[in-house]
Amino acid sequence: MHSNSEQAGGPNADALLAAVGELVEQSLTPLPDRDVVELMRGVERAARMLVAVQHRVLIEVDSRSIPADTGAKTIKLFLMETLRLSNVEAGARVRAATRVGTFCDMSGAELAPELPCTAIALRRGDISVEHARRITAVMVRVPRGVDAADREAAEKLLAEFAATGSPDDIGKVGQSILAHLDPDGRITDEDDRARMRGIRIGRQRPDGMSPISGEIDPVLRALLDPVLAKYARPGVANPEDPTSPGAGVDRADPQLIIAAAQRDTRTAAQRTHDAFTLLLRELVDTNMIGAHRGIPVTTVLTIRLEDVEQLSGVATTATGGTVAIPEALRLAERSRPYLAVFDHAGLPLHFGRMRRLASPAQRLSLIAALSGCSRPGCDAPASLCAVHHVHDYSKGGPTDIENLVLACDHCHSLINDSEAGWKTVVLGDDSEFAGRTAWIAPEHIDPTGTPRVNHRHRAGELLAQIVADIHARRERERGAHRRGRRPGDIAA
Ligand SMILES: [Zn+2]
Repeated sequence: MHSNSEQAGGPNADALLAAVGELVEQSLTPLPDRDVVELMRGVERAARMLVAVQHRVLIEVDSRSIPADTGAKTIKLFLMETLRLSNVEAGARVRAATRVGTFCDMSGAELAPELPCTAIALRRGDISVEHARRITAVMVRVPRGVDAADREAAEKLLAEFAATGSPDDIGKVGQSILAHLDPDGRITDEDDRARMRGIRIGRQRPDGMSPISGEIDPVLRALLDPVLAKYARPGVANPEDPTSPGAGVDRADPQLIIAAAQRDTRTAAQRTHDAFTLLLRELVDTNMIGAHRGIPVTTVLTIRLEDVEQLSGVATTATGGTVAIPEALRLAERSRPYLAVFDHAGLPLHFGRMRRLASPAQRLSLIAALSGCSRPGCDAPASLCAVHHVHDYSKGGPTDIENLVLACDHCHSLINDSEAGWKTVVLGDDSEFAGRTAWIAPEHIDPTGTPRVNHRHRAGELLAQIVADIHARRERERGAHRRGRRPGDIAA
């Protein structure tokens, strides 16, 4: 039905690219001020309309199952691979298309978009995708019990407001609309709450801290309140006060708790934070959570020997986080995590072909050596990975450390002998990454079939390589200069 090149006259981006190409080149200097501003408005409108076009194409690609045919598990992963979008950008684009894009039913008839007025405004270029995103954020909070006419009116109102106002103000307008729709919060039912619940733990920042936000439902709240009443009290679980009681607060002397509370200068937020630390440490230490992927649910810390000696640097965890060395050693003292100390000489263990599943010791050393999934571009940390045999076990590949590599479940499932499958190889001595496992992408992603290693978990390595290349080039240029030639002559 969808043959490749028969419809030569169909929609394509050629004219668009030509027009944009001209605008990029043309001089703006001769334009009077008013025309420059007019141009700015026109370009903004066009960019907004293009977002609607992106949604159309995205929905078309998805409806033809193109992502599944090429091995990408979801449309989002397909966008990340073919357009080189970030995880965040690809996710946002798919969500926006779902809300304001036009889908078709089985017979090919067009269905009304979920947010019809917002969709029309975006298509006209009256609002931006950021406006649409903020409208969505308000509309998901409209309780299911609100009748359809009110819901439609709310969306229409928001879209009209968006066409004249800033995205920043939509939240405020939304608040008053929501207050009007459900003044005493009684229409909100269990399904609404289930839809809204969520805790987001953001990426760890370079300073070691991670943002957390979200909304919890009444059940979690009911479980949490008594726990916090006990452990987030002033004087309890205070890391700055060695005499402050922790989990054993029940058995502590009441006078001691009162004294500790008087010394306690933490904010309520800090006490809540410390209560969570205490709670999770208790859970992990008492082994209540059991095992996950063959190793106990506990912190796996990887430390380089030189860092321990100098009490500097960071330990990495199996979940891809970092902990400063002094804190890591304190954690190790108190909660017995798995500790892998490396002298940075490479893979430390060798096991014969003993069994199908890698042993905990092998998994730990893989985590320490590789820190995460080995497919180029994947940033799944080691805790989300399975052990993969580079030479297939069923074809005689040994369960040796040299033949094992970490791959997350998704990447693991991409490895197969079909045309759309990925392959893995161990790089030989002639490679700069000798001994590492490289992946070969299927033809639709990398037509050259070059084996590539994953640098995502070793950002420093790639940077070092780039710096080395720059140094080498400068050295060559200096050499050429000394011989009285210009650098450009070298290749000739
Ligand atoms: Zn992966």
